[in-house]
Amino acid sequence: MIPAQFEYVAPTTVEDALSALAEAGEDAKVIAGGQSLLPVLRMRLNAPTLVVDLGKIEALRGIREDGDALVIGAMTTHAEVCTNPLVREHALLLAKAGVQVADPQVRHRGTFGGSLAHADPAGDMGACALALDASFVITGSAGTRTVPGDEFFEDLFTTAIGEGELLTEVRIPKHTGWGAHYEKFVRVAHQWPIVAVAATVRVDGGTIAEARVGLTNMGSTPLRARAVEAALVGQPATDEAVRAAAASAAEGTAPPSDLNGDADYRRHLATVLTRRAVLAAAGV
Ligand SMILES: Cc1cc2nc3c(=O)[nH]c(=O)nc-3n(C[C@H](O)[C@H](O)[C@H](O)COP(=O)(O)OP(=O)(O)OC[C@H]3O[C@@H](n4cnc5c(N)ncnc54)[C@H](O)[C@@H]3O)c2cc1C
Repeated sequence: MIPAQFEYVAPTTVEDALSALAEAGEDAKVIAGGQSLLPVLRMRLNAPTLVVDLGKIEALRGIREDGDALVIGAMTTHAEVCTNPLVREHALLLAKAGVQVADPQVRHRGTFGGSLAHADPAGDMGACALALDASFVITGSAGTRTVPGDEFFEDLFTTAIGEGELLTEVRIPKHTGWGAHYEKFVRVAHQWPIVAVAATVRVDGGTIAEARVGLTNMGSTPLRARAVEAALVGQPATDEAVRAAAASAAEGTAPPSDLNGDADYRRHLATVLTRRAVLAAAGV
């Protein structure tokens, strides 16, 4: 189908984008890489009167260090995230998961910020951002605020980004020297995950010193598997210990049932994939 008619602007600054959004109110929509929004417009699930394209705002692109944090601009593409040396050094999990997002064409158009703002519970980046303790910088005409991961994802396709606001960057504490793995379960290549697990761990002398685990598609938002994290710390990086900790991966989750699998199947998958992801992250 062809989208309903809309006005289109492509500002070159965040300020101009915010002004355009403020003027159009709730009838405006932001477009980043368009990989999720365009299908929505073509199916006429949304019919904005104004589309504000962020593609010409250079300030929203790029990856930089800021003390103990890695800062990723919202308009940085998945392809740039996957191949960036700073990401590989300080947030390896994003690189490991990023190469599993869709296919090369989508990764070259789709953006890190767009993926998080879209908040599809089957999207791969949300669980990784949570596992890395990311915080989200949101800018509106009233100023800029930083939202912690726990508060960013509110529900299915719903985040803390308010009307007339933009996600401008994502701040990630450096996880230098941590191992990482993203275990994504799909029926065919390049698909969205039925369930996926993001794991990053710091192993010290054969013992798991710190662990963070995120779950994809195990509820209406990405989730942290905090029971698993607590059970892993202080344990030897062995199959037996990790298997025992992974048994609680589905605790506190509310997975969907659909044609790809029912909720019980997803709960089972979560434990299996968590064991695999943690072991791979720990290098076992
Ligand atoms: C064939 C195909 C397969 C895919 N497979 C996967 C997959 O396996 N895993 C996966 O994770 N993703 C997958 N995707 C989605 C892809 O990762 C997109 O990059 C992502 O969903 C949205 O990014 P985008 O930059 O294209 O955002 P857009 O589509 O432009 O925008 C998405 C939404 O976010 C809003 N938005 C975007 N940027 C901002 C911002 N800075 N501030 C506020 N709101 C904003 C838009 O208004 C819109 O509502 C797939 C997409 C396609 C087309």
